[in-house]
Amino acid sequence: MPMKSSSLAFFLFLSWSLTVVAQRPASYYITADRIFDGEVMHEGWAVIVEHDKIAAAGPKEKIKGPVGAIRISNANTTLVPGLIEGHSHLFLYPYNITDWSTQVLKESDSYRTARATVHAKNTLMAGFTTTRDLGTEGAGYSDVAVKRAIEEGIIPGPRMLVAGRAIVATGSYGPKGYDTDMHIMSGAEAADGPDLVRVVRDQIGKGADVIKVYADYGWGPHGDIQPTFSLEELKTIVETARSSGRPTVAHATTREGMRRAVLAGVETIEHGDLIDVELGKLMKEHKVTYFPTVAASEAIAQYDGWVKDKTPEPQSIIDKKKSFKEALQSGVTMGMGGDVGVFAHGENVREMELMVEYGMNALEVLKAATSVNARAFHLDGLVGSIKEGMKADLVIVTGNPAVTISDLRMVVFVMKNGVVYKQEGAALDK
Ligand SMILES: [Zn+2]
Repeated sequence: MPMKSSSLAFFLFLSWSLTVVAQRPASYYITADRIFDGEVMHEGWAVIVEHDKIAAAGPKEKIKGPVGAIRISNANTTLVPGLIEGHSHLFLYPYNITDWSTQVLKESDSYRTARATVHAKNTLMAGFTTTRDLGTEGAGYSDVAVKRAIEEGIIPGPRMLVAGRAIVATGSYGPKGYDTDMHIMSGAEAADGPDLVRVVRDQIGKGADVIKVYADYGWGPHGDIQPTFSLEELKTIVETARSSGRPTVAHATTREGMRRAVLAGVETIEHGDLIDVELGKLMKEHKVTYFPTVAASEAIAQYDGWVKDKTPEPQSIIDKKKSFKEALQSGVTMGMGGDVGVFAHGENVREMELMVEYGMNALEVLKAATSVNARAFHLDGLVGSIKEGMKADLVIVTGNPAVTISDLRMVVFVMKNGVVYKQEGAALDK
């Protein structure tokens, strides 16, 4: 019976690997010097976790740990809700290792999926328990499969919202620069006009949680960035997605691309390199959340030769700093998402550090990566804050990230759905 013994061996391997990766859910009584609940920093608080949920959170004198609860308490630490990455590409890795076109054209989906499983683990271990992954860039619906493997506990990784292939206008997207006789696969699915209805529905059917559309892109041999879809086309995409209960989100860097996307009803704008006060106000009026992806802009400038703090800032960075300030000034809701994948997975905090460097208050950045992102992604009943009934996604870091945002790099404890994935030097007793 070779079949039976091999499946038994696989089962044993699976149970063994899961116990190595994660402890089984139990009851926990967790304290830290500070507890950030998603909105406010508290001192003298405790959190109770039972099974996969937060059973209670509040001042220690009001919170009693259940009998037999595992107690977790570390000196000089802050407990925060599991962080939410707002813009990742688990199927990409830094372009200074392998450029984007080569990853898309020459690497098989299975090779890229193998890498993605490691990227997912690195994301979780960095304290990011949820991610919105905005396109596989040529790896089809492999994100739907990775999401499933994480949900089933086969591999460790963050809770995922996935976009699948994403939608681009014909002729706009890469890889580019090949003889026009060649058929070159695209990094996203091209569609136009009335066909957009079919494509949106097809993507939803194959597992997309969000529809991602490229509202502008570099066109033609010189690649100048111009709007892609008409306002009507964008409305078609948004309405088709919305009727199935799914949001549409837009890559947009030009003012006209952003304007059309906002008027069409997208829920988030990604990058927005040329955002100004006026557009920020328009976005605010339409309840659109802005994801500046500063870390990607900085990474790409550095891959192009910029040495930060040594060589003069390139125009792209000068523009990015200016537009970031204008966005803050406009009062638009700022989300946190770095376009990680352009830079290394597990380095997600880099976006938060740069948001502070570009002028945002550290506590506001913490909110962006927790309660604000949760609301923007319709997950605020589930994650992004520490209160009774929420999923037990909890992260402990050394120090105080509301003062020094980089303290988020000193992760000592990661819990997702009540399961402990990381525990470093934490006091732990029954
Ligand atoms: Zn992206």
